[in-house]
Amino acid sequence: MSQQDHTIQTAAGAALESATLADPMAFARDGGSLSGSVEVVRLQRLRDLLADASGCITWEVRGGEEEDELGQRGSRKFLWLDLEGELRLVCQRCLGPYVFPLRLSGCLELIAPGASWPDDELEDESCDAIEGARNLELLPLVEDEILLALPQSPRHEVCAPPDEAAGSGKTSPFAVLAGLKK
Ligand SMILES: [Zn+2]
Repeated sequence: MSQQDHTIQTAAGAALESATLADPMAFARDGGSLSGSVEVVRLQRLRDLLADASGCITWEVRGGEEEDELGQRGSRKFLWLDLEGELRLVCQRCLGPYVFPLRLSGCLELIAPGASWPDDELEDESCDAIEGARNLELLPLVEDEILLALPQSPRHEVCAPPDEAAGSGKTSPFAVLAGLKK
């Protein structure tokens, strides 16, 4: 068994759409890594939030182990995700494209199938836990990390609402919403 047996990978890098870890626990134990580049348009949940879905995101997934609090080597297994690219979000004020430079490093602790979940999982916001079940698909994981990293309400530092720019006195739907929240 070679390292390559853990993953489906092509010479040009892994296609995220089909990248699957056959055995994520073994991938982490062996310090495996996989990388590639994915077109933004392939990320269907993300695509709906964008002004346009042009461009690519480069991604890397690495596996590794750390000792637990008792110093037992290799008892905690992780996937580390590194993502980089540019997303064209929609500015919530002027509704124009807002370029968001994505550069994130995420951490996922792998819980062995059937094992009990660590109590501190909910408290540790720097690292989510997922089940390290066989045939783990990477695309949903990458997309989740990106969705979590997006700004809640992207706005240009300087811009004007479209109705103000046009000089009309019409109340924008956002102003109406803001009024309702009071
Ligand atoms: Zn704007």
